[in-house]
Amino acid sequence: MSNTAMNSTANERARLLRVALTIAARGWPVFPLRPGGKRPALHRVDRCPSTGACAAGHLGWEQRATTDPDRIRRAWSIGPGWNIGLATGPAGLVVVDLDVPDPTDPNDVPPPRWAQLGATCGTEVLALLAAQAGQPFPDTHTVETPSGGWHLVFLAPTGPDAPALRNTAGERGNGLGWKVDTRAHGGYVVAAGSATPAGTYRVVDARDPVPLPDWLVQRLRPTPPPPPPVAPMPVGGSRHDRYLAAATRGERQRVLDAPPGQRNHSLYLASVALGQLVAGGALGEQDARAELRAAAAPHLAAGAYSALQAEKTISSGLRAGARRPRRLGDAA
Ligand SMILES: [Zn+2]
Repeated sequence: MSNTAMNSTANERARLLRVALTIAARGWPVFPLRPGGKRPALHRVDRCPSTGACAAGHLGWEQRATTDPDRIRRAWSIGPGWNIGLATGPAGLVVVDLDVPDPTDPNDVPPPRWAQLGATCGTEVLALLAAQAGQPFPDTHTVETPSGGWHLVFLAPTGPDAPALRNTAGERGNGLGWKVDTRAHGGYVVAAGSATPAGTYRVVDARDPVPLPDWLVQRLRPTPPPPPPVAPMPVGGSRHDRYLAAATRGERQRVLDAPPGQRNHSLYLASVALGQLVAGGALGEQDARAELRAAAAPHLAAGAYSALQAEKTISSGLRAGARRPRRLGDAA
């Protein structure tokens, strides 16, 4: 390598280090991408050497993304000049990635439903979606990509009932539409300042990101997994069984009827009640869990809480109930 080439590599490395530090200073975790590329520069799980950062088990790019200036300096001061990946989930961001058709690919044309409406790129698809929803589209932090696309950077929804949004791609699943991807948990974007042979990603609107509009939050809500099959409660003829069936049905109804804002609390109370019956020997723990999951399923589907939150609530309710065992026939 000539001196000039070495100097330009050193300059580019120093430039990318400055960019990575600036992005991290906003609280947005970064990790290295291949030089001039868009793929992570870190090894894949099937090539893990189980040393260094992976000594206690493989860490993927989302776990290794960091805002720590020392770690960033160490990573970017070696190598040929890493591009910068921004881990959207840990950054608390949702990036709407608006793409344009590949001009060299004659088959990269809008599907009929978008062509009919005159959309020729992701930006126009998103504008149509906003118009259909009757919603204005807010200006926010924006990065232009070398292909002529845009990254609209938004704040992810927060709060106890906020859904954890994940990536979407085009029209697949709960995706928004043709040439519109979203990056959230489990995703990353090539950050502004990164360079590819096609050009540089650059900030074209430097304002702070605004919250993701609510109509988009609703559209991007992950579809919850179907609830596990419920084992039918044994319906016997004895008074014990009738009592148990009624108690269980009552708790299930309590969860189903809970108004918004009380759904998690109702699930907890029902879990405590069934936990008491489990502790008293009237009901198996797995049956209690199945009942509670089935009762919570409609609220999960409505996005009142995540499956993980529901499981946590059920477990903590059952634990609390177990401290006060109740036998059937005892006063509640
Ligand atoms: Zn590893």
